[in-house]
Amino acid sequence: MKFRCPVCMFPDLPYAPADYHICPCCSTEFGNDDAHFSHFQLREMWIGGGAQWFFGNPPAHWNAWMQLINAGLEMYVPKFYTDLQTQSRTVGQPTEIRYRTEDPELCAVA
Ligand SMILES: [Zn+2]
Repeated sequence: MKFRCPVCMFPDLPYAPADYHICPCCSTEFGNDDAHFSHFQLREMWIGGGAQWFFGNPPAHWNAWMQLINAGLEMYVPKFYTDLQTQSRTVGQPTEIRYRTEDPELCAVA
């Protein structure tokens, strides 16, 4: 059984978010940290600190912003990231890049 962290939305907690378990993603200690701060405040603090993975190595392909987007919390994701996602979905053909050296005048030997 997996549980979702109510702070960072990490979906693979092996234990319920309670009883002094600590989220390996955002480091929230349930029953301690969330006794002093709301999940909302803890999430803001985690994101404000750069939304870093806390314990050991993150899972392969882990991405804090995708984790929030997948949980329906894209309002927390920095605009530059959501812009990038939107562009990669809407841009069809890559823009043709013409290198300067392909310009015959620049390549011409004087
Ligand atoms: Zn967490």
